[in-house]
Amino acid sequence: MTVNLLEFERTGFAQFCAGLGEKPFRARQLMRWIHQVGVDDFDAMTDISKTFREEMKKLAVICAPEVARDTTASDGTRKWLLNVGTGNAIETVFIPERNRGTLCVSSQAGCALACTFCSTGRQGFNRNLTTAEIIGQLWLANRKLGRGIESPRPITNVVMMGMGEPLANFTNVVAALQLMLDDDAYGLSRRRVTLSTSGLVPAIDRLRDACPVALAVSLHAPDDKLRDEIVPINKKYPLKELLAACVRYLDRAPRDFITFEYVMLAGVNDSPEQARALAKLLKAVPSKINLIPFNPFPDSGYERSSAAALENFRDVLMQKDYTVLVRKTRGDDIDAACGQLAGQVLDKTRRRERRPTNAAA
Ligand code: SAH
Ligand code: SF4
Repeated sequence: MTVNLLEFERTGFAQFCAGLGEKPFRARQLMRWIHQVGVDDFDAMTDISKTFREEMKKLAVICAPEVARDTTASDGTRKWLLNVGTGNAIETVFIPERNRGTLCVSSQAGCALACTFCSTGRQGFNRNLTTAEIIGQLWLANRKLGRGIESPRPITNVVMMGMGEPLANFTNVVAALQLMLDDDAYGLSRRRVTLSTSGLVPAIDRLRDACPVALAVSLHAPDDKLRDEIVPINKKYPLKELLAACVRYLDRAPRDFITFEYVMLAGVNDSPEQARALAKLLKAVPSKINLIPFNPFPDSGYERSSAAALENFRDVLMQKDYTVLVRKTRGDDIDAACGQLAGQVLDKTRRRERRPTNAAA
């Protein structure tokens, strides 16, 4: 059976080389060829002996998901639809900005958590992505973007904010994170890799021990009653437990605050009273608040908050001394904005049958 070398983080490479009687430094060479140079051809690895290359050709491949579609939005945001087999496709988005380039990476085909305002959540769930499929998104994007003259490293930041709940696919996501941070692979600093979660409390604690990167938490509501409704995982891990896990995470976090994401839904969670309640709720957690204008998708049943409501909400929080950022909508003309990623998911949960499309109305 052939192995896909994109499945391995450092220990995997070391074991692979040891198993073939090769010296440990070969692992480092392989990692560099694959993740830094971006090769998928063993013959390109010129400082590796011909015999080892021939042996690898028999045993291994370097194989990322196949690109089914490559679209660029009017603002330069680029989206790849990637085929991950058996009728499932995921999406990866590159967001170029003046002094950085962010890749938004998916972790699952679909998502089982069913947040009511999220297009991925609406689709249901098929399966977890493998490590190769997760890191393969970064590997592919690097190859596609090239190492242009103006910008030698197009991807400076990674956000685990694509399709799926990354902490529900813990092992594979952590292996991919380790490669993102590894100096022989992508060498990104922990501060430049952000994982966004809807709040799987035990997994937040595990991440703190295994691989503490910057953490963003999808809050979206200032109280349990509303959060139970729009982020259903809240019924299992309510706000008090979630915020306590955030405080614990900060001991190890690469940044001294947690980012809280809050999607602005007209008439649902955007009133000044709710802003005040949010300010009170987050008092004990060093925070930055990221307000996300809702991005519509067919039959969502929600509307984006008005500019005035958004400004009021932001002002209330700023008066209480919070740092508040309003996330710029990028790539919405190609459905690449937050919450619009849908790819193609063969739903195993039969969610669509159980819930009518206007459930949120
Ligand atoms: N599952 C993870 C990460 C993926 S979603 C999580 O929920 O955190 C990335 C961010 O986009 C989350 O904050 C999510 O709540 C938000 N989002 C989902 N649907 C959205 C929509 N339609 N408009 C704007 N943001 C949305
Ligand atoms: Fe899943 Fe995140 Fe969408 Fe919720 S917002 S359904 S957790 S991808």
